[in-house]
Amino acid sequence: MAQETSPSTDVGLQDVGPIVLLGPPGAGKGTQAKRIMERYGIPQVSTGDLLRENVARGTDLGLAAKAVMARGELVSDDLVCEMLQERLKQPDCKRGYILDGFPRTAAQAGWLDALLDHKLFDNSRPTRAWPIVIRLDVDYNQLLLRITGRRSCPTCGRIYNVHFQPPRVDEVCDLAHGTKLVARNDDRLEVIQPRLTAYDEQTRPVADYYERTGRLIPVNGDQPMDEVTAQIFRIIEDHQA
Ligand code: AMP
Repeated sequence: MAQETSPSTDVGLQDVGPIVLLGPPGAGKGTQAKRIMERYGIPQVSTGDLLRENVARGTDLGLAAKAVMARGELVSDDLVCEMLQERLKQPDCKRGYILDGFPRTAAQAGWLDALLDHKLFDNSRPTRAWPIVIRLDVDYNQLLLRITGRRSCPTCGRIYNVHFQPPRVDEVCDLAHGTKLVARNDDRLEVIQPRLTAYDEQTRPVADYYERTGRLIPVNGDQPMDEVTAQIFRIIEDHQA
């Protein structure tokens, strides 16, 4: 049986979400998803992470996605939805999950609505669960600093930012002694603009769709990280109440 993530607080074991985190690259979706995961014991499902794992393992999906991702463009809806469907069938998603980086196109948003409406498969929810859709809004210049400064440790996975949260020794992990930090392949300056353009052209309409249907909750992602987290927890708990 797959290992279930256990909540680190006493917020209870009732279903949570699903939670959709929208926002441009660098908005802090991954960071906030990890905090939500720790508090509520539901998994972070990042389509970007799933795709990078496939690329690393050299699967057919990874081979199809690799060049597209390196150009900063979006992988096809069919491939991403099929991959996500398999992930959401895992038992750790039964109580809910956090979607990080999905939906990114209008077609993906329609697919998600159909899925939550039980038209695609029954992931054991007795009734339709509308997602809590949170969009992190961040100033453009701040986004550029966050993306260009992002580094991670290939050994322990810890995330740094050379501008805001630098390691004690330049470009070296504080925890995994001596491990040199790496930047994501698509965090290079020449790939950032296409990624931001993909967000503007293909993902902004998704936020507009949720806004029109009264489901979008914008959060100011320029605030200190802990304040953003506190606000997200309040939104989730108000929604559960
Ligand atoms: P992320 O880690 O969310 O920034 O995603 C990294 C890259 O993976 C993106 O630039 C896309 O090429 C691809 N990707 C991630 N999620 C999706 C998605 N929902 N739809 C299409 N492509 C995606």
